[in-house]
Amino acid sequence: MHETGNHQAPLLEIHQLAKKFPVRRSFLQAKTYVQAVSNLSFTIHNGETYGLVGESGCGKSTTGRLLLRLQDPTAGNITYNGKDITHARESELRQLRKDIQIVFQDPYSSLNPRIKIGDAIREPMNIFRIGDPGSRKKRVYELLQKVGLQQDQYDRYPHEFSGGQRQRIVLARALAVNPRFLVCDEPVSALDVSVQSQILNLLQQLQAEYQLTYLFIAHDLSVVRHISQRIGVMYLGHLVEEAPTDQLFSDPAHPYTQALLSAIPTTKPNRRRERIVLSGDVPSPIHLPSGCVFHPRCPAAIPSCREVVPLMRMISEHHRVACHLAK
Ligand code: SF4
Repeated sequence: MHETGNHQAPLLEIHQLAKKFPVRRSFLQAKTYVQAVSNLSFTIHNGETYGLVGESGCGKSTTGRLLLRLQDPTAGNITYNGKDITHARESELRQLRKDIQIVFQDPYSSLNPRIKIGDAIREPMNIFRIGDPGSRKKRVYELLQKVGLQQDQYDRYPHEFSGGQRQRIVLARALAVNPRFLVCDEPVSALDVSVQSQILNLLQQLQAEYQLTYLFIAHDLSVVRHISQRIGVMYLGHLVEEAPTDQLFSDPAHPYTQALLSAIPTTKPNRRRERIVLSGDVPSPIHLPSGCVFHPRCPAAIPSCREVVPLMRMISEHHRVACHLAK
């Protein structure tokens, strides 16, 4: 179902990326740091959809913002289309921000309620000076139709649309500048389940038509499964497992991934897994656990997990895991 293995040069390459944020609760208190992302490495190929999943606060949205250089990494490298953009200057970022667009979770706050939706879709073309006023308007009509809306809706305001329709408008706006890469940050989480699949299908159609590459960020593994060729699982800022989608679902190797998968309801008796309930809360990213960051909640932990950090290693051709016990 999902294609795996890609021997082209990656479009995006992230190498040992880290981000920490300073926090100080009071003036007298010493500064401490939240380690949002640690030692993160993965690649995304042209035309691929890479799903990044994990619980809220695991660092997946920070990763999306780092790629767009909306935040500066503390360490590591980001290479886009063969070019190191980790420390790209403002002039270089301009082209990058045209090439890489982001779609956020909440289509209600992504659109200005006082701006007509046609003008909102046209705005990025004005900013990047693409075409003339006439051709921009024509392009807006074309994009409205591509995302399943009507041309005569150009002059309507965001409040006249449903959540799913607003996400279509946001997608049309993202596509207005002909990007190559879309960071989709929980793009369907705020939508009803029936609408979610319509938007996921639309994302797939648009990907095929415009040869787009996606980083698809979500907390829900079943949503990510629908659209991704490969999936990376994050926990407390660390990538703990990465595999082609089918392999991750049939043969999860990290105890955290196994727990996430066991929580997905299924109607197929042969696919049913025993529910793994993780004990305790996710630890604070200010005081990361020693050794394996998952050890305080891991049902399979052994004494050395408290001390020795598990390195990411290949357990089969396309399957990487950071766990001492994974085979
Ligand atoms: Fe669990 Fe140890 Fe593996 Fe971490 S390294 S996931 S604590 S078994």
